[in-house]
Amino acid sequence: MPQIIDGKAISAQIKDEVKEKVSQLKEQGISVCLAVIQVGNDPASSVYVGNKKKACAYVGIESLSYELAEETTQEELLSLIRELNQKEEVNGILVQLPLPGHIDENAVIGAIDPRKDVDGFHPQSVGTLCIGQPGFVSCTPAGIIELLKRSGVKIAGKECVVIGRSNIVGKPMALLLLRENGTVTVAHSKTENLKEVTARADILIVAVGKPRMITAEYVKEGAVVIDVGIHRNENNKLCGDVDYEDVAPVCSAITPVPGGVGPMTIAMLMYNCANSVSLQ
Ligand code: NDP
Repeated sequence: MPQIIDGKAISAQIKDEVKEKVSQLKEQGISVCLAVIQVGNDPASSVYVGNKKKACAYVGIESLSYELAEETTQEELLSLIRELNQKEEVNGILVQLPLPGHIDENAVIGAIDPRKDVDGFHPQSVGTLCIGQPGFVSCTPAGIIELLKRSGVKIAGKECVVIGRSNIVGKPMALLLLRENGTVTVAHSKTENLKEVTARADILIVAVGKPRMITAEYVKEGAVVIDVGIHRNENNKLCGDVDYEDVAPVCSAITPVPGGVGPMTIAMLMYNCANSVSLQ
């Protein structure tokens, strides 16, 4: 049986560490505040925003909530962001994605003060990650590094293959693995002979966005497999990008869905919020 990497337990540990840090900051008279903006009322986004507010309450971070109508114009949203950029008491600004189609996400992300960019999506945050300087790191890939480290998985010198090259998961994931001295390959939809590429991986990170696409044939015996995907299957149950039942017998460690990468994203958001104080 492989080691099951328990994202629920590890994320709880991180939230407790953040809670302790926030309480120490409070003793020094410093409070931490996150502004969360949601445009429209997409049900999945509402669940994510609700979970973020709950996590803030747990760790002792104040959360300000801005629920804007679907018809909000880009200029109105940008003007709110500019206002929050100026407010000294606001440490982090998070705009829940996806935004309605009439709003340019890149313009919105780019308008956030990089010192308050707790999601780590601003081009400056991506740049600092790339050149190894302090800055915010995208929460999901940062959470995966924590999962690996806290589960005793050695990254340095290992063959790491990331399937997916999105700006929020695949690319920052590859940069973080490189920072940890992994030997990194990034695969995507144009990659030829994907199975041969993934079969080299000691650590395989799957962020392909296709339910249960990765079966045992893609996985080297004894590899560590991290499943970033979240989908609902035909029975309305959660599943990942990895066919868990098929892959578990061949790997040495694996993240389940749910209970693997998912809970880490919010824990790392809390971590970024608490850390924002030192970047400001
Ligand atoms: P995207 O759809 O933005 O990216 C998917 C990537 O997979 C692309 O780079 C694409 O390549 C590549 N890809 C698609 N099909 C294939 C294929 N057949 N072979 C090889 N590569 C392929 O997804 P995200 O990165 O945003 O998310 C990935 C998954 O992670 C999703 O299931 C999403 O729901 C989940 N997710 C989970 C989070 C969490 O908190 N646990 C947070 C964020 C995402 P190309 O670039 O060439 O198109």
